[in-house]
Amino acid sequence: MTNLVAALKEIMDSDRVSTGTSIRAQHSRDYSYHRPCLPDVVVFPETTEEVSRILALASAERIPVVPFGQGSSLEGHIIPIHGGISLDFGRMNRLIDLQPHDLTVRAQVGMTRGELNRNLGPHGLFFPVDPGADASLGGMAATNAAGSEALRYGAMRRHVLGLEAVVANGTIIHTGGRALKSSAGYDLTGLLVGSEGTLAVITELTLRIYGLPDQVVAVHATLPNLAAVGEVAGELTALLPTATRIELMDSHAIEAVNRIEHTQYPSSPTLLLELSGQQQAAIQGDLDTAQEIIAAIGGTVRAVVWDASGRDRLWSIRHRAALAIMADARTSRHVSTDVAVPLTELVGALDHAQTTLNQWGIRGAMVGHAGDGNFHVMLPLGDFPSDLERARRCQDAIVQYALAHGGTCSGEHGIGMGKISALRQERGAAYSLLIGIKRLWDTNNILNPGKVVAADALNDPLLEGGGFFKEALREKDLPKNP
Ligand SMILES: Cc1cc2nc3c(=O)[nH]c(=O)nc-3n(C[C@H](O)[C@H](O)[C@H](O)COP(=O)(O)OP(=O)(O)OC[C@H]3O[C@@H](n4cnc5c(N)ncnc54)[C@H](O)[C@@H]3O)c2cc1C
Repeated sequence: MTNLVAALKEIMDSDRVSTGTSIRAQHSRDYSYHRPCLPDVVVFPETTEEVSRILALASAERIPVVPFGQGSSLEGHIIPIHGGISLDFGRMNRLIDLQPHDLTVRAQVGMTRGELNRNLGPHGLFFPVDPGADASLGGMAATNAAGSEALRYGAMRRHVLGLEAVVANGTIIHTGGRALKSSAGYDLTGLLVGSEGTLAVITELTLRIYGLPDQVVAVHATLPNLAAVGEVAGELTALLPTATRIELMDSHAIEAVNRIEHTQYPSSPTLLLELSGQQQAAIQGDLDTAQEIIAAIGGTVRAVVWDASGRDRLWSIRHRAALAIMADARTSRHVSTDVAVPLTELVGALDHAQTTLNQWGIRGAMVGHAGDGNFHVMLPLGDFPSDLERARRCQDAIVQYALAHGGTCSGEHGIGMGKISALRQERGAAYSLLIGIKRLWDTNNILNPGKVVAADALNDPLLEGGGFFKEALREKDLPKNP
């Protein structure tokens, strides 16, 4: 351990190599219910060359490396369950090259989406992938993040044109490029997007960007029940070409926002819609259609908002929902589901989730990207060990329903350590290909071990049952969960 720290300090300035308990604790947990674990050391590289040397060292010494962006992921992704090095990209946050006429930008992975958009705005451009947190571009690529605007623009994988990455032994590779499309052989860029730091460490991204729309309107509607929100969402998605966002919140989520943000939105199942484009007439046509569809099912349009600050106020209900739900439940310890189902299955899936919550007597709150058939049930955990058991059973029932109806266990959050068994089930026989891919890219299983592919599936004697790095798990040193 002393040797490791000394070797890292030869690679970078010593103030960028930290073994302090508070820094390690910040890198030990995410927003989920998963038990925190301390890394042995946290490093803050500034260049790809430094990352390459760190990985070469880790590879030679067989030390686990866990890439860390903003730590906002929700399935234990960044928890160093076998100790080792937490690789924090906060200082690799430069915009490298903006090409407005090509609609591309190249940036280091530590830049957050907010910073990127502040750089793009003056050029009349923006990057549309918007997970609720101000996540890093690297974390977003590694989880194939989506968010509310994925309805129109798609998730991260659609926007990463090329990337620079460092593979487990320290070799620097480049995939893709600046062209807007490519059919050049196996899609390594697409493979690394969504790989959660388990195959390689991404250091730079070339991203597709877009012109800001001239006209935007937001609509706030309440519906008689959650199933009606699902039904309307399906119709609007099919019928409105200008729809950018179609989001749902159940009444528990609205009540949590009202209590925490001191707002007074009606406590009903809620649909938030955004239409955008360059043509006012096209948007107005879609707006009229939306209002008809909402009225036909017994819903009420509460507000139609054209001005930017009014829209921001309205959307803040949705953007703040997850944190408000946690604050309202007085615990950040939540099990969160992330299923996505085909649009025609959304009503059934919402109905089933509601019934499941009632059966287990859990007061969960629901929010979701309804236009994508993706919704999250947030299940708060109390102080009893049985709370986790009940929440996990409830989560499992929701996942089983989604899988039985053509859906997926994860629409956007990824697998981390919390959804490995669901992924195994979802992939079936193809799961062995995932194991093969992991072995090929990361022979010694040092890259974010225990995530996406379980240690037992890799038959890794070092990691099974806590293994070689067990001394890194020092529970008594950890600060208590907030
Ligand atoms: C309130 C809230 C709302 C959210 N809403 C959404 C949402 O709407 N949509 C959505 O998709 N997600 C959402 N999320 C989840 C989260 O924001 C995303 O998963 C995001 O992409 C994580 O980015 P990050 O920078 O925090 O990554 P981290 O949490 O730091 O890391 C995530 C994963 O990526 C890996 N990683 C990080 N950087 C690199 C790198 N450079 N190279 C290789 N691997 C790397 C890590 O090892 C880890 O496995 C939400 C989270 C919160 C807390």
